Amino acid sequence: AAMLTLLSDTAAGATRDGHAVALEANISAVADAERLVGNSVEGVGLYRTESMFLDRMVAPTLTEQCDAYMRVLAAMDGKPVTIRTVDGGADKPLKFLGISPETLDGMHHGLGIRGYRLTSLYPEILEVQLRALAEAQELTGRPVRVMAPMVTTAREAREFAKLARNAGIAQVGVMVEVPSAALRAGQILDEVDFISIGTNDLAQYTMAADRTLGELDDLLSPWQPAVLDLIAMATRAGRERAKPVAVCGELASDPVLALVLVGLGAGSLSMAPGAIAPVRHAIRRHTAKQTRAIAHAAMEQAGPAQAFQAALALVDPRV
Ligand code: PEP
Ligand code: MG
Repeated sequence: AAMLTLLSDTAAGATRDGHAVALEANISAVADAERLVGNSVEGVGLYRTESMFLDRMVAPTLTEQCDAYMRVLAAMDGKPVTIRTVDGGADKPLKFLGISPETLDGMHHGLGIRGYRLTSLYPEILEVQLRALAEAQELTGRPVRVMAPMVTTAREAREFAKLARNAGIAQVGVMVEVPSAALRAGQILDEVDFISIGTNDLAQYTMAADRTLGELDDLLSPWQPAVLDLIAMATRAGRERAKPVAVCGELASDPVLALVLVGLGAGSLSMAPGAIAPVRHAIRRHTAKQTRAIAHAAMEQAGPAQAFQAALALVDPRV
């Protein structure tokens, strides 16, 4: 039994009947990737690069960025690495811009010039970052997957894909974390190679509830039917176009929700590294068909508590 446990703690993510689900890590620094060396995680599904840009009076240079990206690629040793371009906003302040983030992003609303939208005012930030990524790809010989945060329209996805492909990046995607992007996920997927659903912001913008306010936890629950509906729309668009859909918001780290996401068709789940083992264990205990039944049961409910209970009722009690 000990042997079996050991095996299942390191195996690749898959349902009991062998349907693969890549289990990847969310990281925000080179050191996070270096700690994953020798670990069984299957890749990095979200590298939040803004950590390199926050709280600085000057932006990191191309060389500094390239060095960081190379170290992450080297640490992951050929496993897929999805690097997100800078995500700035009132909650992720880019001080080197020399203008208050609230001015750009709207006081406390997160509805202003943030995430990918900053490119229209400061195109050079993305330009330098894409060049640094392309150089890191070239020097390590490892393909880079890049994605943009807070993409809202298919047109933005097209613009970003053009910039990233012109820079020579191997694979280009965008995050789906704004309701408009989930509603038009098909048109967005027509422009890019993959999408990754960011459930933290998707819940915030769907429910009009600031994600940093603990008082709104109930509205921000990822079990909210409206949020599940949007996730289902995005995964359906991926299935129709045979393009990969990942989930990288915190919700992927909940084993029961992870089963719902697998049932909806997510091909990879990215989460805090510590959450991977229990999620792997939960997925291993169910067949693909069972995960679809779990997702279906959750989707039919009127509220978050009922959705959770309906899913839980179908989950193997050993999870
Ligand atoms: C998200 O919004 O779900 C996400 C993964 O990005 P962040 O938490 O960095 O905004
Ligand atoms: Mg986000």
